[in-house]
Amino acid sequence: MPEFDPAEFDVSELGPKVQSIDDPAELRAVLEAERDGDNRDAVITVIESRLEQVSEDDGGDDGEIDLDAMSVADIGNALQNVDDPERLRDLREREVDGEDRDTVLRLIDRRLDSVEGGEEGETGGAETDREPPEERHPELDHPTADKRHVRALEDGTYRDMWVYCETQAGDLLDVSREMLGKARELMDGYNDDYVGDDGDDERVVAVLIGDDVADHVDECIELGADVVVYHEDDRLARFQHKPYTEVFADMARWGADPPARDEDREASPPDNADWRDYDEPRYVLFPATHNGRDLSALVQAELDSGLASDCSGLFIDDVGISNPVKTGAPGTTRTFERVLHMKRPDFSGFEYSTILCLDNPDREFHPQGGSVIPGSFEVPDPGPGREGEVIEHEGDLDDGWFRVEVTEFDRLDGGVDLSGHDVVVAVGRGIGDDPTRGMELALELADAFDDAAVGVSRGIVTGSYSFDGHVEEYTAEERQIGETGQVVEPSVYIAAGISGAVQHKVGCDEADTIVAVNTDPDARIHDWCDYFVEGDLFEVLPRLTEAVKTGSVDAEALADGGAGEPATDGGTVAGDAGGELDE
Ligand code: FAD
Repeated sequence: MPEFDPAEFDVSELGPKVQSIDDPAELRAVLEAERDGDNRDAVITVIESRLEQVSEDDGGDDGEIDLDAMSVADIGNALQNVDDPERLRDLREREVDGEDRDTVLRLIDRRLDSVEGGEEGETGGAETDREPPEERHPELDHPTADKRHVRALEDGTYRDMWVYCETQAGDLLDVSREMLGKARELMDGYNDDYVGDDGDDERVVAVLIGDDVADHVDECIELGADVVVYHEDDRLARFQHKPYTEVFADMARWGADPPARDEDREASPPDNADWRDYDEPRYVLFPATHNGRDLSALVQAELDSGLASDCSGLFIDDVGISNPVKTGAPGTTRTFERVLHMKRPDFSGFEYSTILCLDNPDREFHPQGGSVIPGSFEVPDPGPGREGEVIEHEGDLDDGWFRVEVTEFDRLDGGVDLSGHDVVVAVGRGIGDDPTRGMELALELADAFDDAAVGVSRGIVTGSYSFDGHVEEYTAEERQIGETGQVVEPSVYIAAGISGAVQHKVGCDEADTIVAVNTDPDARIHDWCDYFVEGDLFEVLPRLTEAVKTGSVDAEALADGGAGEPATDGGTVAGDAGGELDE
């Protein structure tokens, strides 16, 4: 039995674990366990390649390099074990006389450079070219090459976790509180693991931008911030992406080297820049709200970094990476420290990916940043009396940034309460072919019952559907059902065009009876609904509405655990509804 069961880890976690094993017997045991278990191709490749590596190390022999039979990647790996320049020159000659591949010749040349005293990479491998992409591929467009504010750093200094605390209509959003709590937890762990008792702890920095945002400074500190940086201006009362991006990016580079946006600052950084002595934040979190998503993408692009959007899990750890783009040399592994692991749902929440923002050998990517789905973390208990530093960010806002003028707006009176109804009709991305018509059908069905409301899946809230005005209000986030929306317990829950992700299920599985309408018989909702109507909602919903109106289907009968008359008289729900009923 191996020391650990590979089935308990995903591929990204297994990489570093496998790299730390030097014993071929142990690696073989892990390989066998994987083959008997999940048998994942990627995991098997990782273990086999490590096995190959340690077996070669054991033998202490650089082995025969068969240029004709081996793949370029295998040649690259094998070359790392060749230290004799004569042998490398011989290999080069053989390659020129043989297939004469540029890629192989380059690998041999790099290895030669390396063994003959060229600069070694961090892991002892040959370094990759430092030619910028614009020069390497002049034939391609490079639309960001001349970006005004992008100044990629090398050997930059990075510290702290920044949290953009969004406000709306003067209130701090709950997701801002949730992120502050998570950031506190992460940075406490970070300081224990990486800083220790004698070092300077890295901090949680809350960022507030708006008109009266200074009102929230104390709360941010009570919720875990060590520093609050804020910028107030009447013109920032409503979110606008250009000025908000400019202000945030300027805060992030404030007093840094390379310096902030303003040319004058180059000569003299602002007096109060001394609260920090680093180039850019190490990490940054944004809320995955409409405005937060907008801001996160723009700021991260402006800071020349990456973004993991819509994350629901975060942790900080070291990670071993063997991708040559990141290590600088094929066949080597580099350990990246203090990496923010950003987990996000894919495939409608059925799978999770972990996104990492890692430096390249010649280019650094900071802050490591992500946006966080509201409701992913708990709102922390405030710590009254907690102390923190408050910094006002100053600087003129360019009139040219305010290109959008808001002339009129409506604010909804209050949220919509979907609980307490006999029936809830919910629709999801299945309405995609004709979103407005799909919403109309849901509303018509709800109208046919005495007491029904209309809700939506998150797929609708985050989708980019365009709805006609008369149905639009029914598609807003306040009608979302699920883990991060409302929890409803009606007698009957009708889910049309909803796949049944677990995050949706928790919002409705206390309903007495759940009826799903879906074209896909393998949709996850099939596993947990009471009735499954296999069919197109654009056909099924009108017929269901008709059946409710004529009394051949009623909510009470459905809620009683049977389709009532309809189900017994030949599956009328299915027949009337135009789909296949499956109980
Ligand atoms: P999809 O998954 O795309 O499903 C669409 C379904 O429609 C498919 O099954 C398809 O077969 C069917 N279909 C297509 N055409 C038709 C047609 N013409 N007729 C009938 N059926 C059709 N989701 C929520 O809903 N609520 C939440 O509160 C929530 N919170 C979340 C919190 C977190 C932390 C995370 C990570 C995710 C959350 N999600 C939530 C998102 C969730 O994971 C899913 O992505 C989302 O529920 C998918 O929405 P959907 O079912 O509408 O879309």
